[in-house]
Amino acid sequence: MREIGHFIGGRHTPGGSGRFGDVFNPALGEVVAKVALASTAEVDRAVEIAAAAWPAWAATPPLRRARVMFRLKDLLERHRAKLSAAITTEHGKVLSDADGEVQRGLEVVEFACGIPHLLKGEFTESVGTGIDAWSIRQPLGVVAGITPFNFPLMVPLWMIPVALATGNCFILKPSEKDPSVSLLLAELLAEAGLPDGVFQVVQGAREAVEALIAHPGISAISFVGSTAIAETIYRGGTAAGKRVQALGGAKNHLVVMPDADLDDAVDALMGSAYGAAGERCMAVSVAVAVGSAGDKLLAKLEPRVRALRIGPGTDPEAEMGPLVTAEHRAKVSGYIDQGEREGARLVVDGRNLKLQGYENGFFLGGSLFDQVGTDMRIYRDEIFGPVLGVVRSPDLAGAVRMINQHAYGNGVAIFTGDGGAARDFASGVQIGMVGVNVPIPVPMAFHSFGGWKSSLFGDHHIYGPEGVRFYTRYKAITQRWPTGARHGAEFVMPTLGR
Ligand code: NAD
Repeated sequence: MREIGHFIGGRHTPGGSGRFGDVFNPALGEVVAKVALASTAEVDRAVEIAAAAWPAWAATPPLRRARVMFRLKDLLERHRAKLSAAITTEHGKVLSDADGEVQRGLEVVEFACGIPHLLKGEFTESVGTGIDAWSIRQPLGVVAGITPFNFPLMVPLWMIPVALATGNCFILKPSEKDPSVSLLLAELLAEAGLPDGVFQVVQGAREAVEALIAHPGISAISFVGSTAIAETIYRGGTAAGKRVQALGGAKNHLVVMPDADLDDAVDALMGSAYGAAGERCMAVSVAVAVGSAGDKLLAKLEPRVRALRIGPGTDPEAEMGPLVTAEHRAKVSGYIDQGEREGARLVVDGRNLKLQGYENGFFLGGSLFDQVGTDMRIYRDEIFGPVLGVVRSPDLAGAVRMINQHAYGNGVAIFTGDGGAARDFASGVQIGMVGVNVPIPVPMAFHSFGGWKSSLFGDHHIYGPEGVRFYTRYKAITQRWPTGARHGAEFVMPTLGR
């Protein structure tokens, strides 16, 4: 059985704890590898190596750090087929979607190529007579990233390029469910010229995460995963004096107005609810049909959900692959049972799907509920599977109220032909990322990504300009060079501008 180890101090390092987790190929339902689960001692060793590598990396001119990013961009482009294949094997998503994941991660590398410009400070000549002042942003030190299974390459790349380009050393603790691609990334960073110890991968689960949170040598933690863990990590990390951004779960609504192009809205719902088997933090899991849109929307949606092409991620015809594990499939299936018990109308039931040749795979068909109520658990909870619920609202104001009352606040979209309604919606909705006739409004790399409410704990969104702020500390410098004139001791508050 293949063993997936760590990447410490510039080389592949086998696990030393004697503990391993199973890594599955979800399409086959078979264990394909064992991943090492790091002990606290292994985490400590990685932090020690990173701390030793940091001063030289922080002192490396930003232009040279950017050149590593340029080379990484080239390497990611050249190896994208291999990276996508590694993602599909362990995650299960279809290859075209895995390729899209590589692309969206690559775009953050492209953003980080501009780091010399992004790190430029502000300068004021003559804040006082013969006195100048300026501000700079400096790296934090050794920072860590803890990432979820659903984007094993893209989410680490939301963090790593910005953290490294701003002059930090980075330790990645990837998801133990699909860890292989993290090691491919480590190899590419080394080939791009990154010094040993500046980027490391420590595989593992809870013990590794707790060791990173407790370690005094870690200055900041970026976390992406489920809300309960995000909140725990935010509380634990900040209590230990660290800067923390912890992105959590989601329940994303797509509002369909009566004046929307319904075919366009249905295409948007299909891709965003069932793409990646619903295992996306920006997946739409609730359609809010406003006024007369409801029945027409259902009539168009139902046949499309029934016609979903489901298969292994390697099948170029497949639109949707399996779920990540048998446990997760059971959890999602349990929510469909729950929705029926709660009284929602199950229009399409995906529970009994069987695929010839893939009988042991973790597949589930697409499911569709109508008449979902806001008090139901299938409305309140993040299901994270191919299940779409339709909620009815008499008007837009009611739809906005419903969305604003939801605990999560990651993404939202409105489909409408009315610019005024779209403008009011975008302004008034209590959600971090808003799409107007765009179903999955994931901001480009030169903006920043993040939700509100229970979808993000911390003060900074991730990547883009917010990422630069998160991974750097602000410093203001005021300078005077002696001109020969003595000023004597001043006991009043300095008032340079007088
Ligand atoms: P998860 O919370 O189970 O795991 C995330 C990470 O935390 C993994 O590295 C895991 O090893 C670690 N972890 C798990 N349990 C832990 C514990 N008890 N103590 C310490 N560490 C622990 O999430 P997941 O199932 O891998 O990913 C799916 C979740 O991530 C969904 O809720 C999804 O919405 C969310 N997500 C959010 C975003 C976002 O941008 N907001 C993006 C992607 C995924």
